Amino acid sequence: GGPAVRYLLRDGELVEYDDARLHVLSTTLKYGVGVFEGFRAYWSQDDQQLYAFRVGDHMRRLVDSMRVVEIDGPQDTDALSEQLLGLVRANGLRSNLHMRAQVFVDSSDGKPEDTGPATVFMAAIPMGNYFGSTGLAMQISSWARLSDRSMPPRIKSIANYQNGRLAMLEARRNGYDAALLMTESGHVAEGAGYNVFMVRKGRLCTPPTTDSILEGITRDSVLHLARTELGLDVDIRPIDRTELYSADEVFVCGSAAEVNHVTSVDRTPIGSGAAGEITGQIRRLYLDAVIGRAAADRGWAQPVYDG
Ligand code: PMP
Repeated sequence: GGPAVRYLLRDGELVEYDDARLHVLSTTLKYGVGVFEGFRAYWSQDDQQLYAFRVGDHMRRLVDSMRVVEIDGPQDTDALSEQLLGLVRANGLRSNLHMRAQVFVDSSDGKPEDTGPATVFMAAIPMGNYFGSTGLAMQISSWARLSDRSMPPRIKSIANYQNGRLAMLEARRNGYDAALLMTESGHVAEGAGYNVFMVRKGRLCTPPTTDSILEGITRDSVLHLARTELGLDVDIRPIDRTELYSADEVFVCGSAAEVNHVTSVDRTPIGSGAAGEITGQIRRLYLDAVIGRAAADRGWAQPVYDG
């Protein structure tokens, strides 16, 4: 079929879907230099409103990402946020959306060390569920999660995604749904596009951001919700592979993945195979938070259209 939406955004200007192009000799295409964000907006049937989730926080991470990989791009997160919401309105979108902001280096004879000219593309495209609700059979990957000594896992550099891609392809080839990667030193890090939590001995645990993970915004939302809505203490600490095998619950979380339970790790079943109690509670709280439902609302869910 044709493009799902009419317009994309290039440096704040609407462009037709097929006109959002990058030169093949750009630094980005030659050397994989670029950063991006992936976020979601949720249509609320009750409110007849579209809510964009934590857009400002995503834009702050985008600016952090540019700083780390040294791309001289725009720094005004409010302006970037407003551009993205303006794009959604220009396309008249009123359904669940996947949104992206991508910063590329569009030099026409690109050198690896070029830091500009930066060009910012944004997209907002209708999207349903990323995963089903049957849970995930996960494999501990034979690929290690890239480490901060070679690449910056905490930010969203496009080059990082080769690492998760290899792990994902390996897992699919072996008959699993998805992969979990460990750090070089053998701690559980994260999946190809999601952070991981486990419940073990009654404690909710997740790896620290110094264990080769993206500083996930959903991870942060889950930490807030678990602490403030469920009154749980969360242990942020290194996690061993075999702790997962004997966990009561394991779940992954991300803007696209939302909160989804893991049914097995390396074919070892986790709990009953259904979503565990804490996972279920956190999933419900999260799906309320994304449409600004009172108990969970922290100004995270931003109305896109005038009331
Ligand atoms: N880890 C990786 C490698 C990711 O690509 C993502 C998706 N952005 C996540 C974790 C989850 O991050 P967030 O909750 O900010 O979407």
